[in-house]
Amino acid sequence: KIDTRLWSSKARNLSPYVPGEQPQHNNLCKLNTNENPFPPSPKVGEAIAKVLEQQASDLRLYPAPESDDLRAALAKAYHLDTNQVFVGNGSDEVLALVFASFFMKERPLLAPDISYSFYPVYAQTFGVDLVQIALEEDFSIDPDAYRQPCSGIIIANPNAPTGLLLSLADIRKLASEHTNAVIVIDEAYIDFAQIKEGDVDAQVSAVSLINEYDNILVTQTFSKSRSLAGLRVGMAFGNASLIEALTRMKNSFNSFPLDKLAQAGATASVLDADYFEQMRQQVIDLRQSLTAELTALDYNVLPSHANFVFARPKEGNASAVASALREQGIIVRHFNKPRINEYLRITVGTAEQNQRLIDALKALQADAEVATI
Ligand SMILES: *Cc1c(COP(=O)(O)O)cnc(C)c1O
Repeated sequence: KIDTRLWSSKARNLSPYVPGEQPQHNNLCKLNTNENPFPPSPKVGEAIAKVLEQQASDLRLYPAPESDDLRAALAKAYHLDTNQVFVGNGSDEVLALVFASFFMKERPLLAPDISYSFYPVYAQTFGVDLVQIALEEDFSIDPDAYRQPCSGIIIANPNAPTGLLLSLADIRKLASEHTNAVIVIDEAYIDFAQIKEGDVDAQVSAVSLINEYDNILVTQTFSKSRSLAGLRVGMAFGNASLIEALTRMKNSFNSFPLDKLAQAGATASVLDADYFEQMRQQVIDLRQSLTAELTALDYNVLPSHANFVFARPKEGNASAVASALREQGIIVRHFNKPRINEYLRITVGTAEQNQRLIDALKALQADAEVATI
């Protein structure tokens, strides 16, 4: 029994985020936390091995506090200045610093009601008044619904767990209608967004807007598209003044959030652009075939721009399907929340993993048919 007498009332009143489970058994088909099914660039391991082998004695020294080499590599890759780039220990930490830097104000923070479930947790941690704005009937975001005084707006784009994409035109609208608020676009999945072929204006990342709007801050992560969830590296891109606020906040909490191994590995990942392009295209292709197969099984699948699909079985409830899959060693995510409790969020796996899922779903449907005869 935990004794909370010595706890602060803050510690007592928190309701921490619960991540999708990380079971340690082998042979599980783990499609529940949107990790990348493919390994990171081999250059990442080489760079980390080099730090360990050739410079092991350097581990007695503190790492570069502002991760200069990594930020310079990111700046070059995204055509920005280094002072427009911030990095942290996973984008979750970057988001925590964002809440502390921009949203601890009188005016409320606005976010969609169905979105990344860490936002309400941070709002509570930092005493931020969060007003949740309902998604439309089709789960899309209507920027007009955000017309009210606020300290900021935070939107995951593509949204989680729906996978739907908000257009840059809508993001411009939010930024220009709220010039005294920080518009945070959490682009954890943006590298999987599909640009329509031949459409010259089909930019999807709001990074392309930060030189134009001084109130847009974009966060991204190495966890999904760069296959480095275990390394814990995330970043923010924005106007130098926004980045300076994050740096001040970081240095009032932890001056060295990224260790030497993480800095070396993440930098190597950014420099291996060819590998990155190849891997993200592979995941996009696998998402398309998984979507087609689920649709053929009569699932209603939302058009996903992420490395997961959000799908509703036309017959049979989602929670029962998730439990039946689990019995066969396949784990997907089910959210027991109003409006989305008939959906499953399924991470795009390798071709073999996706096939194992589809075969299991087919078998379930066959069993159900036998049961009704
Ligand atoms: C995965 C995820 C993150 C956090 O990623 P990190 O691993 O902490 O970098 C942030 N936002 C959304 C919407 C995510 O899905």
